[in-house]
Amino acid sequence: MKDTIAKIFEERFGGKGDFYASAGRINLIGEHTDYNGGFVFPGAIDKVIMAEIRPNGTDKVRVFSVDIDEYAEFGLKEEDAPSQSWARYIFGVCREIIKRGGEVKGFDAVFAGNVPLGAGLSSSAALESCFAFALNDLFNDNKFEKFELAKIGQSTEHNYCGVKCGIMDQFASVCGRKGNLMRLDCRSLDYEYYPFNPEDYTLVLVDSRVKHELADSPYNKRRESCERVAQKLGVETLRDADMDALLAVKESLSEEDFKRAKFVIEEKQRVLDVCDALNQGDYETVGKKMYETHEGLSKDYEVSCEELDFLNEVAKETGVTGSRIMGGGFGGCTINLVRKDLRDRFVDEAIRRFNEKYGHEPKIYDVVISDGARKIDD
Ligand code: ADP
Ligand code: MG
Repeated sequence: MKDTIAKIFEERFGGKGDFYASAGRINLIGEHTDYNGGFVFPGAIDKVIMAEIRPNGTDKVRVFSVDIDEYAEFGLKEEDAPSQSWARYIFGVCREIIKRGGEVKGFDAVFAGNVPLGAGLSSSAALESCFAFALNDLFNDNKFEKFELAKIGQSTEHNYCGVKCGIMDQFASVCGRKGNLMRLDCRSLDYEYYPFNPEDYTLVLVDSRVKHELADSPYNKRRESCERVAQKLGVETLRDADMDALLAVKESLSEEDFKRAKFVIEEKQRVLDVCDALNQGDYETVGKKMYETHEGLSKDYEVSCEELDFLNEVAKETGVTGSRIMGGGFGGCTINLVRKDLRDRFVDEAIRRFNEKYGHEPKIYDVVISDGARKIDD
């Protein structure tokens, strides 16, 4: 990828720039916990967006996307927003840095990536984080802290791309470290690194390539359920609730609200249990918790779908250590913790059986927990 970028940079702009990269991400456990003030547990992966960048002494940004095979040119004022959606991520990052009192001047850039787009691995966060990290280094003496770079990416999505996302994706992309997952407290925004270095296991994503668009907004309905129960319990978010408290008010809740809150409360505990297990190097327990999360997402939170339940079942039957839906639900990927000696058999089974049943093959992504945003030295 680096060589391709360098060749195109040389052809388009002449000479060389500096290389930067940032990563896509997985979330091992901690789903639908962010808006309940709970924990998420992501890590950066070995799929990246990489860019070669060089200040050009003007007030214009000139950038070429290798994968989309398009060129964009734009100024740095609010009214200069480019029309291409991929370029808006980069423009947004520039604007958000400027809004925070940082400096951005014109630059030339060529970038490419291997984070699959729209598969739930957050290629957009990788793109934002790569440029946020680079512009902080090139124009701002790295004065912005890493967490601030993540916020710059998040605000870019909010203000320039129309996506009201949380902070997890950008956080993971920027702060990720090889061999570590990070437990992010979505209330305090404190985070801690935990070792994830499974010698005998590997992570495999199985992308169902289905996305069920539902008429009513299931996401908002889940949120409302959680808020109603929190209010009933007299707490700000379900982060502060436990099962005893929930059971005490069970009779006054609808069955649906009860199940939603039960999932959130149990999921919070599962993240903590997984952290303990990782400190012991106990990947069997990690896997067990992943299955429990899937079960909860499917039965209590009701955000699964037939295809994802099927993939989960195939994993279980093949002897995979842990498997669950990753992301908001209703389609997308399962994340699987698989013993290395079982990886090929599981992948074959998943592809064959899914294809037999649904008439198309799922996509497989092997991922390794890797570094997040960084400068690449030669
Ligand atoms: P994801 O879940 O992967 O983040 P999004 O829809 O949020 O999916 O972001 C995908 C968008 O990010 C693409 O439509 C494109 O605009 C931009 N993008 C991601 N990766 C690349 C890439 N390699 N080259 C150009 N643009 C990219
Ligand atoms: Mg995205």
